[in-house]
Amino acid sequence: MLSAENRQIRLARRPVGEIGPEDWEHVTEPAAAPGEGRFAGRTRYLSLDPAMRGWLDDRPSYLPPVGIGEVMRAGSVVEVTESNHPGFAIGDLVAGLFGVQEHVVSDGKGAVRIDPALASPSTFLGALGSPGMTAYFGLLDVGALKEGETVVVSGAAGAVGSMVGQIAKAKGCRVVGIAGGAEKCAVLTDELGFDAAVDYRAGNVRKALRTLVPDGIDVYFDNVGGEILDAALACLAMRARVVVCGAISQYNTTDVQGPSNYLSLLVRRARMEGFVVFDYAPRYKEAARELGGWIAEGRIKVLEHVVRGTVDDFPQTLQMLFRGENTGKLVLELV
Ligand code: NAP
Repeated sequence: MLSAENRQIRLARRPVGEIGPEDWEHVTEPAAAPGEGRFAGRTRYLSLDPAMRGWLDDRPSYLPPVGIGEVMRAGSVVEVTESNHPGFAIGDLVAGLFGVQEHVVSDGKGAVRIDPALASPSTFLGALGSPGMTAYFGLLDVGALKEGETVVVSGAAGAVGSMVGQIAKAKGCRVVGIAGGAEKCAVLTDELGFDAAVDYRAGNVRKALRTLVPDGIDVYFDNVGGEILDAALACLAMRARVVVCGAISQYNTTDVQGPSNYLSLLVRRARMEGFVVFDYAPRYKEAARELGGWIAEGRIKVLEHVVRGTVDDFPQTLQMLFRGENTGKLVLELV
């Protein structure tokens, strides 16, 4: 049975710089019943993603901006509570872009039934969801990784970065992760099997990379941009590939810092290429099969940071990403 009320987080106004509490509106509206060909669901897990910051800006991007007054866009896992849709039954767990709200009604477009026997539902928002797909296709397709190469990844203790490093290890590569703080660096080397880690808060990243990767970086997978990207550009091997996955250090600024060491691309005959994971949607099953296999074999560990709360906790949970307070995929479990 549907609860009578649906708590939602809507965009109240466009943030300038960091997102503040006044940029959100907390709303309660009646929960809708599903019409013909639709199902209703209760949100169990909400995904928190750095990309959300970009979705709030009114500028051209790979998705339209979230409109003022609209429910905030978010990936989530919902449990079907009522169904008039032949593809979804009561009790099914379904992943999709259902937004920051307690109850959803969907026509099933873009919704994927998940199998909780394979992994915890939250993992379908992380290692087996968009971040896992991002790591897989970014590294293997855009980065064209070859066995025996040296990979450096920034944001290495995060959802995407932790998968990038472990996929590279599974492919027989040497991996150095860059992350904030000694604790996160210890997770990378002691728990995830990275060969080395650099704490960017502790000192000079460029110097550390020169010592750890004297023959240069073959694939640099960039999640953060800014000064760390510049340090990595200064340490490329010949024919290196720089994968532009994200630039979280620049998301809250209106004055984006571009790379100044870009001529290293010329000297090293290297290339730098961006990508958006959604373009790989037709191949997600292929990646999920291989990632699922590595997870089942224990070659890839799933790193998740699960916060338990309500949809009202969404704004402050999102901020954790920009403060480096998460280790692994950040998820809000609704209790
Ligand atoms: P995440 O890494 O789990 O979380 C964000 C992490 O970024 C924080 O934990 C923090 O770790 C680090 N960070 C925050 N501010 C920073 C700063 N100023 N400088 C350096 N590091 C900073 O997030 P995620 O979901 O895996 O996303 C990682 C990146 O992938 C993001 O840039 C995201 O936009 C991008 N992405 C791209 C695609 C695509 O299709 N291209 C798809 C998904 C994600 P530390 O403690 O280490 O600083």
